[in-house]
Amino acid sequence: MRATVIPAPQPVLLDVDGMMEQFPVRRVYCVGRNYADHAIEMGHDPSREPPFFFQKNADNLYNGDTFPYPSASSNVHYEVELVMALAEGGAGIAVEDALSKVYGYAVGVDFTRRDLQDKAKKMSRPWEAAKAFEKSGPVSAIVPAARIGHPKTGAVWLDVNGTRRQSGDLNQMIWSPAEIIAELSSYFTLAPGDVIMTGTPAGVGAVVKGDQVTCGIDGVGQLSLTVA
Ligand code: MN
Repeated sequence: MRATVIPAPQPVLLDVDGMMEQFPVRRVYCVGRNYADHAIEMGHDPSREPPFFFQKNADNLYNGDTFPYPSASSNVHYEVELVMALAEGGAGIAVEDALSKVYGYAVGVDFTRRDLQDKAKKMSRPWEAAKAFEKSGPVSAIVPAARIGHPKTGAVWLDVNGTRRQSGDLNQMIWSPAEIIAELSSYFTLAPGDVIMTGTPAGVGAVVKGDQVTCGIDGVGQLSLTVA
């Protein structure tokens, strides 16, 4: 390998539950409005139009128990989501083959600068400032599908300071995990290390410094965070 003129960036590595080895992250794709009740609360039609995607940066993901409140926003929302971590990729993946590409699953939060997102929507501008900021994607340890299978149902929930704020079920997704992978692979060539955040149920809301956020997906895991 040739030398680099500046230090090469470190790979982004996420914990795998019960293992010393970690999961290396390549890209992070996120699905918008994948639960009907959340689409409605955001003022959109929940009909089954094709899913749309946006991205976070690989290094926005991390394992940790702290979410540092970001700069440049005064309205930062939580969105609890099922996270898929891919062991294999490809283009034009069939729905029937899609789940065989998944290494494992985790619980994640798609933290969003909602004020910046609202402004971007009004001005037809991109969402990166709202979605792809530092520490915007805390995730739990990845649980291998070899251990838990491919969850189709299971409560998806999030509490702030002990009060339930989000409560849904994986079976309420408009587009299933297999369908998301298939659709995503019609636009992008997926590869090992790609991570997909699959959308959030209703109940999104703002956090403030000092909040304790605890969230989970039954059968997958839990994540607890202090907003700092
Ligand atoms: Mn989201």
